[in-house]
Amino acid sequence: MTEPNLLDVVQSHISQCGCDLGLDENVMELLRSPLRELIVSLPVRMDDGRLKVFQGFRVQYNDALGPMKGGVRFYPVQSLESVRALAALMTWKCSLHGLPLGGSKGGVICNTRELSKKELERLSRAYVRGIYSFIGPRRDIPAPDVGTNATVMAWMADEYSCLAKENVFGIVTGKPLFLGGSAGREEATARGGWYAIREAAKSIGLELAGARVAVQGFGNVGYHAARLAAAFGCRLVAVSDSKGGILKEEGLVPEAVQEHKAKSDSVVGFPGAKNISNQELLELDVDLLVPAALEGAITAANADRIRARIVAEMANGPTTHEADTVLSKRGIHLIPDILCNAGGVIVSYFEMVQNFDLWSWDEADINRLLDRKMVQAYDAVRKTSQKEKFNMRQAAYVVAVKRLVEAMRTRGWV
Ligand code: NAD
Repeated sequence: MTEPNLLDVVQSHISQCGCDLGLDENVMELLRSPLRELIVSLPVRMDDGRLKVFQGFRVQYNDALGPMKGGVRFYPVQSLESVRALAALMTWKCSLHGLPLGGSKGGVICNTRELSKKELERLSRAYVRGIYSFIGPRRDIPAPDVGTNATVMAWMADEYSCLAKENVFGIVTGKPLFLGGSAGREEATARGGWYAIREAAKSIGLELAGARVAVQGFGNVGYHAARLAAAFGCRLVAVSDSKGGILKEEGLVPEAVQEHKAKSDSVVGFPGAKNISNQELLELDVDLLVPAALEGAITAANADRIRARIVAEMANGPTTHEADTVLSKRGIHLIPDILCNAGGVIVSYFEMVQNFDLWSWDEADINRLLDRKMVQAYDAVRKTSQKEKFNMRQAAYVVAVKRLVEAMRTRGWV
């Protein structure tokens, strides 16, 4: 069976939402169409003197609600279509959480494992030069995603500032603290996801104390998701990365797993734990499953074998449309990506506000505001789901798209 790509998945969700809300075809056409798409060729001088040309993308999907916001993915397998799908998800996500922002996304086809630090820096700077005239702190603000991090954001902020001939640190978010980054940004996606899990557990009557957790993916989001499990009283029993997974019933210490990964390039082989496959991790008998890797983890092929009570989508697009139906029929409580993983963009928005004010907020204040935003969005989605008998994904789309369409109507677009 060939699985649908991410754009198919996102298009199915939006078509379903169109039916749920009874939207007319003109509105649907706007919702399906990105505002602007850019493909750039990025020539980069490699360490051995060769010139290599990388392909980059920036998709600006919809700015009805405000300047566009979206991460940049440095990853070998991507296309204009996959970046378009991620930009659409950003649009619904910002709307669902009541942020005054639209959605965008960027990407460069590359394998960061094969680049030296200097090559990565030159590529990051080339990407900014390629998209310079399309972005801006009040227009479109990139951030980290798969394969990029605070260091990459610092190079991007510096390159943009050199071209603009003034310091414009607010051009990106997810920066290091001393360049205008925000406290709490690095763990924000995972922390926001945990606030949503806490609300979900309350709502379905699951006791979090002692609940068993499996996390798929051990990168920025997955590591912090694993690390925060203990703060919410849960026991982390399994984690995985692209090379495989590990299971330890008595509980894993994420910091120790991280140290092992730093030395051996994978979580696999962690002393005292059993090696398992990526597929086995997804199908473990746990209370909470956190997909925090890439799209297409839960599909029609394995949805009937997922045993967790809550699936918290900290990754973008990990579950297909067909798998959604199977999970909701089986009574598994899904916290959809646009609800669950918005902590990153919410704290990025706080970072923008701090940058505009040349001010910095305390981490405790940031976490409190993030908590409030996640609770508000979770409540709105849960209530819509119960009232209209929609599954959680349908309900999240309904809340998000209603607000976006209202903005488009108010601006006279439809
Ligand atoms: P990352 O590159 O830091 O980590 C990705 C991890 O997934 C790596 O550990 C990789 O080995 C692992 N992985 C890849 N394929 C896998 C597989 N088949 N099975 C198990 N593990 C696998 O990326 P990230 O920033 O942590 O992003 C992860 C997901 O979260 C992506 O979907 C991203 O779009 C989403 N997201 C990220 C942010 C953010 O702030 N970084 C915000 C919102 C959503």
